[in-house]
Formats: sequence, C-alpha cells, structure tokens
Amino acid sequence: MKYCLDCNWSTTPSDEPSQRDRSRAAIEHHVATGHTIDSSASIARPTTPDVDSNLLVRDLVPSSD
Ligand SMILES: [Zn+2]
Repeated sequence: MKYCLDCNWSTTPSDEPSQRDRSRAAIEHHVATGHTIDSSASIARPTTPDVDSNLLVRDLVPSSD
C-alpha cells in the first residue's frame, strides 16, 4: 500500500488494483497537499499491532504452571 505520513490518506490494492493508478494517486496527493507519501509492502499501515505487545507481555510474565 501507499500511505500519507501527514494525514490518513492511503491507497491499497483493495482500493485500487492497478499499481500504476496507486502511484499516480499518491503523486497527485503529494502535489495537491505537499504531504509525504510512504509505501509499504504490507497491506496495512505499519503500526505496532496490539497482539505483538500482548504476546511480549505474556512472554515476560512467569508461568503459573
Ligand atoms: Zn496527506
């Protein structure tokens, strides 16, 4: 996906199947707003998932067994 670092704008393969059109949309958003577009191989914005922190906490807590 491509996403904006300055606002919630993003485009994903599910939104726009054509990579060329996604690239064009990203450029158009940058030109229109001056915002910075980043891209990721992931289909989701690269934030830290809650699941990972939960698993980390679980690993740190001694087992009660
Ligand atoms: Zn933006």
